[in-house]
Formats: sequence, C-alpha cells, structure tokens
Amino acid sequence: MVGQFRVVVVGGGFAGLTTALALAHKRSSVSVVLVEPQEHFLFTPLLYELLSGELQTWQVAPKLDHLLVGCGVAWLQDRVTSINRQTRCLTTGSGRELSFDRLVLACGGVLQSFGVPGVADHAVGFRTMADLRRLQHLVHRLQTRPHPLQRLAVVGAGASGVELACKLADLLAGKAVVELIEQGDKILAGSREFNRQQALAALQQRDVRLRCRSRVQVVAADHLTLLVQDQTETLPCAGVIWTAGLAMAPPPLLPAALVGPQGRLVCLADLRLAGEEAIFAAGDVAAVPDQSQQPLPATAQVAMQQAPVLARNILASLDGKSLQDFHWNDLGEMLSLGRGHAAITAKGLTMAGPTAAKLREATYMLRMPGAGHRLVAAVGWLGEHLRP
Ligand SMILES: Cc1cc2nc3c(=O)[nH]c(=O)nc-3n(C[C@H](O)[C@H](O)[C@H](O)COP(=O)(O)OP(=O)(O)OC[C@H]3O[C@@H](n4cnc5c(N)ncnc54)[C@H](O)[C@@H]3O)c2cc1C
Repeated sequence: MVGQFRVVVVGGGFAGLTTALALAHKRSSVSVVLVEPQEHFLFTPLLYELLSGELQTWQVAPKLDHLLVGCGVAWLQDRVTSINRQTRCLTTGSGRELSFDRLVLACGGVLQSFGVPGVADHAVGFRTMADLRRLQHLVHRLQTRPHPLQRLAVVGAGASGVELACKLADLLAGKAVVELIEQGDKILAGSREFNRQQALAALQQRDVRLRCRSRVQVVAADHLTLLVQDQTETLPCAGVIWTAGLAMAPPPLLPAALVGPQGRLVCLADLRLAGEEAIFAAGDVAAVPDQSQQPLPATAQVAMQQAPVLARNILASLDGKSLQDFHWNDLGEMLSLGRGHAAITAKGLTMAGPTAAKLREATYMLRMPGAGHRLVAAVGWLGEHLRP
C-alpha cells in the first residue's frame, strides 16, 4: 500500500501547507508532495510585527525544511507552470513532470493593480518577504535621510492598508506623513463596527491622513495622480504601498477550469473544482460557496479551516467514499493597530489596546503550522513577554 496514491499540493501557504501536514498525519499509504517555490512559510497576519521588529523572521516566516522535518511530506522547491487535467500530470518551472492521483490547488493570490499605470514599476506590495524587504529599505531611507514634508502613501483602506498605515506611522515617528488613500467612502468596508471605530481612532492618534473617495489614476516614481470628486490632484510622495486588491494567477489548467469573480476557481462545497473528480482547491484561489451560495472570504482563517476537511475528502475520494461539505466557522476579526495596540471582535467579545495586542499575538502563535514550530514559537513568545 505504501506510496500507492500520490497527492500533489500546489502552494505551501496557509491552505496548502496545513493540508499537506494533515494528509501526511492521517495516512502513510499516501505519498504527499508539496510544490512551493519559496523557502519559507509566511504567516501574513504578523507581517506588520515583522516590519516593526516586534517579532523575528524565524517566528513569522519559518523555513519549510524545518517545518516539514519528519512529517512525511516531500517538498519540491519549484513552481507549477501547467496542469493537464486529462493526463493528471503537471509541469514545473524547472521542467519536471509530476503525475498525481489527487491534486490540491492552494496557490493563493497576487497583487491586483486594476490596470492602474505605474503600479508594477513604482509601488511596493505587502504580501511577500520580498515586499517586506523593499518596504524596510524604504522606511530606513525615510528614517535616516529625512526631507521636510515627505510623504508615504498607502493605497487601499481595507484591513491590510489600515494596519500597515498605523505601523508605518509608529515606525516613522513624524519623519514622514503617512497618507491612507481609499476610493470608497469609508475604511474597513468589510469589518466589524467596533474594529472600524478603533481603527479610526488609531489612525487619528497617529496623524495618518485619511483620504476617502480618492481614486488612484497613475503611480509615478515621486507622485500619485488622484481623481477626487471629478478633479485630478497630484500628490508628491516618497513611496507608494499598494494594498488595494487581490488577483489570482493559478497555473494554467488544460482544459481550462471554470473561473469566478476575482479570477477565483469555482469549487463545490466539498472543495473539488467544479466538474472535477481528482482536483481540489482551497484558500484564496478557491471560490467555495457558503450556505447562501456566496464565495467565502479570502482569509487565512478560511484557508486553515478548510485544510482538515480537504485532507479527509481527498482520502475519502481515494477510498470511493462520499465527501463532506466545508462549513466555515467565523471566529471573528483581529486588527493590528500600531505598536503594541490591537482591536478584536470575536464571538460577541470586543477588546482593544495593549491586552488585545498580546492576545492577538498569542492566538497567532498557537495557530502556527507544524506542532514543533507552534511549540517553539509559543514558548519563545511567552519568554519574551514574561521577561521582567
Ligand atoms: C499583510 C496581510 C495580512 C493579512 N492578515 C490576515 C489576518 O489577519 N487574518 C486572516 O484571516 N487573513 C489575513 N490575510 C489573508 C491571508 O494571508 C490569506 O487569506 C492566506 O494567505 C491565504 O492562504 P492560501 O494558502 O490560499 O495562500 P498563501 O498563503 O498566499 O499561499 C500560497 C502559496 O502558493 C505559492 N504558489 C503560488 N503560485 C504557485 C505555483 N504556480 N506553484 C507552486 N506554488 C505556488 C506561493 O509561493 C505561496 O507560498 C492577510 C494577508 C496579507 C497580505
């Protein structure tokens, strides 16, 4: 039986890594191959604390070879470039061909520029370790070579933009004005009201300049062009961080798969791709319907909850058993609002301030993938916080 079936997981983020670990833990008769080009897993909700130096790289971006040691998952450091659904074979960037009995597409999302000119050339994203390094470099330049009235613009006032603007304002401590630019009429359109009010107060305390109803038209090397109430404005700025959207770029499938809004792959509630027996998807790339047939949000919370159901369904499908539907349990929302400050709305509980910040970090330490890393990260975090 050993190695009779091969399950290939594409992408070692929240959905893919957690699914690969769950599969390997459940059944030794399935060989699990994880294809992921990056060296590390990235716990994105703590990327702000990595930027500010409140947490370390080993805690937030642990190396995959450490996470996978002794777990029974084979890691191929490569990128999947195409998938043939008929032959059940995929191709990678280095020219390898890999056959599979079951495939998991968990390749996440990428920056969405909405076709705005200049985003690719002049804006910094905030999704990857490469983005983080570019932003650290920019912050360092602004901190060490300040010019009067210099500005940093964060585009998009969703959770990432708001959290990042607060952290940047704390890091820059008055050396640059942080502008938060939003085309809608309010920040955090999808958030809980308590968190939105806390976020507004945090932005105000830090003198972040909030510009709602402002649409970015062009990003240039040293300025932005904005459309505000039918008027064009030019906003000089030393750097632009683009958090405004999410696009999908899964490897091409042959024949093509059904794609929904935002380019997400249309899935059934049991996480199979629509019209597929052998291919599953999870995380941001998967448009999985909720009870009212709306796609579930693209969050780490959803991705991590999908993993155990997905692992069970893959094994059930190999055994010819029936699959179960995924139901998301909304655990609430936690926002980082600057150094040592956070807001939480979860299951009827609301909380803000330094205690909320500690609770948020502790919760995330306990959600780290891999039992070994979870233990080391949690003990390391406790050690730092209990130090007199
Ligand atoms: C700054 C930030 C903060 C966030 N905060 C929160 C939060 O507080 N709470 C929350 O719930 N969510 C949060 N999110 C959203 C969360 O990060 C995503 O929903 C989550 O990462 C989705 O998991 P995933 O597995 O689908 O994708 P990812 O975690 O993005 O992983 C996808 C992986 O696939 C790999 N990959 C891509 N293409 C290929 C390919 N062709 N071949 C092989 N591998 C490939 C990538 O390298 C990547 O490692 C945040 C996101 C950001 C950017």
